[in-house]
Amino acid sequence: MNGHIIPGTPIAVDFWKKRDCPSAKFFFLTHLHGDHTVGLSSSWQYNIYCSAVTSKLLTEKYGIKDDLINVLETGSSSIIYLDDEKQEQMVVSVIDANHCPGSVMFLFEGYFGKVLYTGDFRYCDLMFVDTPLSNCSDIDILYLDNTYCAPECIFPTREEAIEKLIKLIQEHKDHRIIIGMRNLGKEDLLVQIAEITQEWISVPSSMYRTAEILGLPNVFCIEDNECKIRVVPFHTVNKSNVIGWNNYEPTLVILPSSLYCGLGCIPFEGIPNFHIVPYSDHCSYEEICTFVERVKPKFIYPVVNERQRGGIFGKLSDRSDLSCLNKYLSKEQSVKFTIPKSVKRFMSLPMNTYMRKVSRQKNKAAKYHY
Ligand SMILES: [Zn+2]
Repeated sequence: MNGHIIPGTPIAVDFWKKRDCPSAKFFFLTHLHGDHTVGLSSSWQYNIYCSAVTSKLLTEKYGIKDDLINVLETGSSSIIYLDDEKQEQMVVSVIDANHCPGSVMFLFEGYFGKVLYTGDFRYCDLMFVDTPLSNCSDIDILYLDNTYCAPECIFPTREEAIEKLIKLIQEHKDHRIIIGMRNLGKEDLLVQIAEITQEWISVPSSMYRTAEILGLPNVFCIEDNECKIRVVPFHTVNKSNVIGWNNYEPTLVILPSSLYCGLGCIPFEGIPNFHIVPYSDHCSYEEICTFVERVKPKFIYPVVNERQRGGIFGKLSDRSDLSCLNKYLSKEQSVKFTIPKSVKRFMSLPMNTYMRKVSRQKNKAAKYHY
């Protein structure tokens, strides 16, 4: 699970184990990938703050009740009261995380200082153009997507990866194309492939529904074996299937993923017609360094917890050691704070009392564009 409680606050981000932290009262969701939603189900009863796109997917795919969702528009800042007496407030700004549809970063500003929570993200210059990050020089705590935080994690830009992928497809004109993908995140890539190759793309029904919700161009069809290009679930791309597909007809199998970067091993190495193209929705190590250098936080914490790794990905646990980024941190002292009394009282309220109060007086965020 990649969620965290911001210490000394009632704020939870991508954290859904309510019983483990009863003082959490405000639940923020960065994006809808499974490792950020552990514990979130249709029986969830508390307010959720997320982007408009995530909100649509939440109701459709997770069955979350509409009236629990507070949409925070990407590119806006909102004021949220942190108690039931309206004495203490924070500002939360929402920044596009360039990771998957609906993904955002949250910048929280309040009695606790400034906390930037990236969720998963891929660095791009636009994050620093006319956003709260443009002039930020005093971030107290940065919660950082450390998925590829190791010097050996070198991979190309998404544009370069797409170019490579298209070239591969064009070099295999007489082959069927199979692409292994997870459910949400690389829809833009598929649209580009469809537009360049002028081919329909067959996808699993759940992915088709996602494309409908996202209002993507009409380039998809559902599990149609007649399509030259087919998307299959990521986990079904294994050695025996690659061989089996090729026994049936010449088939180029592609995994657009940087998952194996820096691990020193390539799965199914040497199997004909199988390629991994390092198309990534996360930052490379170099991009992580650039981002941290620009944000210059006083403290930094990893979003991805080392305890969750295992198997060949055990090596990834090193990536939660962020000491390699210390040289980019600000030397200034972090803000020291005490929790305001009204917030402390609010945090200690039993959840059912809190819910009754919220249903009487929904904590609507006052929005403005930054
Ligand atoms: Zn993600």
